[in-house]
Amino acid sequence: MAALTAAVPDKVEILALVETALSWDLDGADLPSVEDALSMAACFARYGRIVADDLRAQYRANAAGSVAADGAQATLSEADRRLNLKPLARTAAPRSAAHRAQNLARLVQALNRAAGAVSEKRVPTCRHSPPCPTADAPDREAAHVIAHGGIQGWSLLCNNVLLFEDTGELLPNGQIIAPHRGVGTAGTRV
Ligand SMILES: [Zn+2]
Repeated sequence: MAALTAAVPDKVEILALVETALSWDLDGADLPSVEDALSMAACFARYGRIVADDLRAQYRANAAGSVAADGAQATLSEADRRLNLKPLARTAAPRSAAHRAQNLARLVQALNRAAGAVSEKRVPTCRHSPPCPTADAPDREAAHVIAHGGIQGWSLLCNNVLLFEDTGELLPNGQIIAPHRGVGTAGTRV
């Protein structure tokens, strides 16, 4: 479980852990150790905060007023509550610890679902002329910035690409592009 202390949890790893947590039978005898359950709960909470921040940003930027946005709003209220629950003590009962991890696992699923729904509902926001490169164009970073995350270090472009300060990107279809600063291909925009 040592790997779970990484600062930014990997989405694939998290989703596998979510599956694992949800497969536990809380009424069965085969419960995980308190330590494992709490460490998973902490991991889900950390990941949940990242997704919730992203969802909030998308919501503010371009989804307000849609059905998906209403869903996002409800999920975010629930996230605010659950992500701010006091962590359980290491002396908690195994069943309580497993239950907490499962609740947070469900929250992670709900947040991912809401984020997916919001990005599907996103209408193209680019109103520039000529139109900016689309999210699947190689020069997508050349699109205009329409929102900034300030100290969180991301920018939302008018083609719905979320660009991070380290040059990593989150595309509207959920694809993650690793940071590539310094690669310097010909034609790279300054
Ligand atoms: Zn544009």
